[in-house]
Amino acid sequence: MQYDLSFAPYNPFEGNLRIVNVRIQGVSVLQPRTPPLMTAFPMQPDRTAELARLLDQRILVLDGAMGTMIQGYRLGEADYRGACLADHSHDVKGDNDLLSLTRPDVVRAIHDAYLEAGADIIETNTFTATSIAQADYRLESRVRDINVAAARIARECADAWSAKTPAKPRFVAGALGPTNRTASISPDVNDPGARNVRFDELVASYGEAIEGLAEGGVDLFLVETIFDTLNGKAALFALETFFDRIGRRFPVIVSGTITDASGRTLSGQTTEAFWNSVQHVRPLAVGINCSLGAALMRPYIEEMARVADTYVSCYPNAGLPNPMAETGYDEKPAETARLIEDFARNGFVNLVGGCCGTTPAHIRAIAEAVKALPPRRIPASETVAEAA
Ligand SMILES: [Zn+2]
Repeated sequence: MQYDLSFAPYNPFEGNLRIVNVRIQGVSVLQPRTPPLMTAFPMQPDRTAELARLLDQRILVLDGAMGTMIQGYRLGEADYRGACLADHSHDVKGDNDLLSLTRPDVVRAIHDAYLEAGADIIETNTFTATSIAQADYRLESRVRDINVAAARIARECADAWSAKTPAKPRFVAGALGPTNRTASISPDVNDPGARNVRFDELVASYGEAIEGLAEGGVDLFLVETIFDTLNGKAALFALETFFDRIGRRFPVIVSGTITDASGRTLSGQTTEAFWNSVQHVRPLAVGINCSLGAALMRPYIEEMARVADTYVSCYPNAGLPNPMAETGYDEKPAETARLIEDFARNGFVNLVGGCCGTTPAHIRAIAEAVKALPPRRIPASETVAEAA
């Protein structure tokens, strides 16, 4: 047996000795690790411990929908284009993530409204800011800029509110949405094996968004609205790869979506199966968002609270979609807040907020409803194992 041990130069993240290669009988069994990337940009410090301490003290509040609020501005093609895309070849109206570049005032005003309503954590306006999703608008080349800009706007807003209310620090979550292509479901009913995106394409696309969000100054990442777990795993793998490269971690929240009353994700998983698929990344929190609205979500958030040995998040839509309603949803703030208060009273949740159709009025009502209620206690791993 032949050991070929070499040591890398001093690295502040890993100590001063690092085995980079081991050969056994001439065969290399440990590949040299890629040295951590010394990023050209500063990043937020690790706020995991601070977030965990706050989550132990009280139920934290996430913001509400961005899309619903943007709709209220009735923006036209010229607003979406701004000066920088005046000559762009394709229409971009409806590309809400682009507004971080072309109408930052709108994005800033919405963040401020949610922070004013009581949100502890705001999400960057980046739900579709990946090269895969932006391909619809032929804006793949602007993805990095969109993510950096979105994170910077949210950072400035959160810092301004942290300064105003020092006892209530605010955080920015870099939002990573599901994209418009699914890695494990065929787009063609006649060909179940067909796919329009590959896992490694998703990883590369998420990787680009992640770097932009980190550069713009997010505190944590939120992999959300996961209806195909394989897409979610691509985002999580891209995050793990990024953490390896920079030699540190960020807190991660993983949030799935139940797509119908059978209680499964679109790719067919129950709540417990979904948790089992993502728990290896040790998320700060795991939960459910979007989809059915709080009333129909109850059994699944209860199940997540029972099986997950980490914090649990929940941010439902404002009820079921109603095409006749102005925002597409008609559940009133008091009703959403009442349903979420019930989750809190039953010890299901640590982090709550709103998804599609929710407004600052919903977030204010939710924050008010949970402020005096204790957060869910994380069950000890053994208890979870026995219950399962
Ligand atoms: Zn939603």
